[in-house]
Amino acid sequence: MQVATVANHMLRVAVNGYGTIGKRVADAVCVQPDMELIGVAKVRPDYVATGAAHAGYPLYTVDPAHTDSFRQNGIEVAGPLEELVETSDIVVDTTPGGIGIQNRPLYEQCETPALFQGGEAPDVADVSFNSRVNFEDAIGVDYVRVVSCNTTGLSRLLGPLAEFVGIEKARVTLIRRGGDPNQTDRGPINDVVPDPVTVPSHHGPDVQTVFPGLSIDTIGLKVPTTQMHVHVVNVTLNAPAAEADVRERLEREPRLVLVPGSAEIDGTGTLKEFARDSGRPRGDIWENCIWEESITVDGREFYCVQAIHQEADVVPENIDALRAVAGTHSGPESRTLTNRTLGIGFERFQQPPTTVADRPTAD
Ligand code: NAD
Repeated sequence: MQVATVANHMLRVAVNGYGTIGKRVADAVCVQPDMELIGVAKVRPDYVATGAAHAGYPLYTVDPAHTDSFRQNGIEVAGPLEELVETSDIVVDTTPGGIGIQNRPLYEQCETPALFQGGEAPDVADVSFNSRVNFEDAIGVDYVRVVSCNTTGLSRLLGPLAEFVGIEKARVTLIRRGGDPNQTDRGPINDVVPDPVTVPSHHGPDVQTVFPGLSIDTIGLKVPTTQMHVHVVNVTLNAPAAEADVRERLEREPRLVLVPGSAEIDGTGTLKEFARDSGRPRGDIWENCIWEESITVDGREFYCVQAIHQEADVVPENIDALRAVAGTHSGPESRTLTNRTLGIGFERFQQPPTTVADRPTAD
């Protein structure tokens, strides 16, 4: 493993699989003071490859047979994937689910540690990772799997609740977006589909990969939207708690944003519009968005409804996982740095958007 030496220099990061998650991770790496993006690997010279070229990211080819087609499309090729893996300290593998496991032998051969994503089976890596719950388990570990968007969203919420009063059992209904905005082949188009129809869905067992022993049941449905997932959460706590205390505890978590009723954000569409209006890159929402008015505590029963931006919430987790593997920061140090550099937290819920009347005049 090469990464033990990185404490002395910028962490050289490669992204293999420059798609929905990969391009966001690449951008996030570029704003970290302790990381350097060495390059990204791409299969085909499509519009996403053009985007990487416009961003100035050195672009490596997964299949050298396609090198000419990149050049024919005016995209410069820095070299083959193997060269990228060899020259980096860590690879973030953001290839489609099931491809990461096929790439692992290459990373092992080059002695380059790697992060995998939630589309891979847990045994692709030595540790399944959520920064808030088990950062320490990944310190110095060569192969780490950053869990999926839904598992990340649930772990961030359940972690603080477990620390606060303890969890007897969590029950979650996941209303899942049918596909990402660029997935024109996904559905349903005009339907609501239990997916999977069996209980529990795979999400509960996946949460248990970062939260061993947690009692959790999940049910999944797919709906015709590309915006965000929505989780309907009920947790039986170990002891009765005051609603105000639970709300205050959740408010302290930078990656949990409580959406006040006064914001008049009535769904995932308005949430995404708010993110775009706030100047978020690609309209990304890295935080769990919990409708504040949905937070209800009745004795030991906790309820809330939260929205998860599937394209974005795993991005800060990948950045923290890089530092865990490198062993350069503690969990709190890394999260603080990542939150600051990405701009996590919607200040404008407290500070209303500037109106035309508020803007300074030209003279
Ligand atoms: P994507 O299809 O948007 O991007 C994957 C990229 O990898 C594409 O550019 C594709 O061309 C490229 N690719 C395909 N085969 C490759 C290969 N052999 N080598 C290198 N690159 C290859 O996928 P995504 O949505 O970014 O998902 C990536 C991973 O992240 C998956 O494990 C997925 O489950 C996980 N994930 C996705 C989401 C989401 O909502 N999109 C959320 C969280 C986690």
